[in-house]
Amino acid sequence: MRNKNDEYSAKKRRRKNKWIDGGIVLLLIILSGSVLWIGTNGWSVENAVDRIQNGSKPTVDFLEIEGPSDSESTGPTKRSQENTSPSDMPSEAPLRKPEDPLIREEIQEEKSIGPAVPQKPIKPSNPTGYIKGQKLPKEPKLIKGVLLVNKQYPLPKDYAPGESAEAREAFNELAAEAVISGINLQAFSTYRSYEYQTTLYNRYVDRDGREAADRYSARPGYSEHQTGLAFDIGEVNHEKHWASNSFGDTEAAKWLAANAHRFGFILRYPKGKEEMTGYMHESWHYRYIGKDTAEQLFKRGITLEEYLGVR
Ligand SMILES: [Zn+2]
Repeated sequence: MRNKNDEYSAKKRRRKNKWIDGGIVLLLIILSGSVLWIGTNGWSVENAVDRIQNGSKPTVDFLEIEGPSDSESTGPTKRSQENTSPSDMPSEAPLRKPEDPLIREEIQEEKSIGPAVPQKPIKPSNPTGYIKGQKLPKEPKLIKGVLLVNKQYPLPKDYAPGESAEAREAFNELAAEAVISGINLQAFSTYRSYEYQTTLYNRYVDRDGREAADRYSARPGYSEHQTGLAFDIGEVNHEKHWASNSFGDTEAAKWLAANAHRFGFILRYPKGKEEMTGYMHESWHYRYIGKDTAEQLFKRGITLEEYLGVR
């Protein structure tokens, strides 16, 4: 039999033991936890303490490999940066994008050089060619008092002034001065009627086809010769050069090109002005426009189209 005091002290002892037992368990938990923590940090107490101080997790190395911001990382980190991270933008930046005007020019140049190499010759459908479906006008086109005839400005069918007396007189003066230089000039084709141009043009079309004929012969109504002011000039006894590119190399052609303007004539279809005039260069075709205007065009080196502001 135990008395109350014994019973009380026994209870007290049990309670004390219970506390000791709890303390041991807690200590064991803390110890094993620490061992585990150190273990996950490569068994380095130093590392484990660092992790605790920096508040980072032991798995941080894996996260760093994926992270784009860690520039000091090597191996997989670097590769992942090269592939995906925004830090490879500077390496792309020097590459010019298509919106760059220089690139655009290069692309256009490539395009124009590329498949378009076998270019077809200038067709009458080009900007200086004929206007499709255009009808002949009722009145001739006069700008600044100058009669203009080209592939956009034809003459009325019934416009038939004959050869201009003023132009003929000017040509005679010109020819007379050329003789002094030993050059014997002749105007082998001047006024051509609408009907004659029709015959001429159709003959060329029959021979070479319409497309080819359009490149060297005017359609009826579109010939400057119908004005009576156009003179095709060559040398007497040198018919082989008449209306031929070979005339351009002769002394006569050079003399004309340098002096005709003083008599009111202009070289109507100069070299390199095909886009302006709509015709290939013709070293023999001169147009009378009067001394003052001819001087101006000669000095400025411009075509009649440019002078009249239609080009
Ligand atoms: Zn001509």
